[in-house]
Amino acid sequence: MTDIRMSADVRAVLGPDGIAQAGAVTLANAVCVGCETRIDPDEPANVVVRIGGHVAHVRYAHARCHASAVVRIPEARTPRTASALAAPDEGVPMLMTASAVDHGRAVLPTLFAEIGAPVFLRTGTGSELMDVLASRVLARGFSPVGRMRQAPPRADQWLAAYTTPGPDNASDLTVMEPDGTIFYTGPIHPPAQWIVGVEDYGWSVMYVGKAGIGDVPADDQRTKTRLMREAAAAGRFVGARIAVHHLG
Ligand SMILES: [Zn+2]
Repeated sequence: MTDIRMSADVRAVLGPDGIAQAGAVTLANAVCVGCETRIDPDEPANVVVRIGGHVAHVRYAHARCHASAVVRIPEARTPRTASALAAPDEGVPMLMTASAVDHGRAVLPTLFAEIGAPVFLRTGTGSELMDVLASRVLARGFSPVGRMRQAPPRADQWLAAYTTPGPDNASDLTVMEPDGTIFYTGPIHPPAQWIVGVEDYGWSVMYVGKAGIGDVPADDQRTKTRLMREAAAAGRFVGARIAVHHLG
């Protein structure tokens, strides 16, 4: 896990649950709030809490770029809704896992997007985790998932594209929302079965939520499937089928 550092005022704002959640992460694909370059999961990172209106965003920074601190953003520069704040271009780190998952009748190519840092809604009594990312995609064609017996319905106008994996098996994936907003752009390590499935179907299942599979080794499909089933039963993610193209 990444060495996560928090100042006293950050701890006061987050409260015990927030401290636990903000600290229990392995940063991958996280962008530094100071220099806007990636943070290596092996180097220490400072927690920066940005507060705008009623929403507190947990962000991370290189130790050299930004002290751990609470930063208040003027209301005028804050998007009006919490879901707008969850836009990935805000730099919220996201873990994207590609795998081939047994859905009862068929093994389907599956992407799983997990937010790598919590986003909090500030209430009168402190901070409370709010799944703003799930609300955002539900409003854009995704459906709640209770069990993984069949593929979730298709979400129109979502579009993903991936590149042929290189020698390290890394492929670049970009996922766009219906209005062209970039939902995710970054690396995935797709197993061969994911690629075969996407070529056959022209789509992948994509789940958005929390299952804790980002840290599971790429070849441990059994553990990933178990964690996904548990998370589905607990209503912790939403899903859709989205069109996927190969970029060559
Ligand atoms: Zn930096």
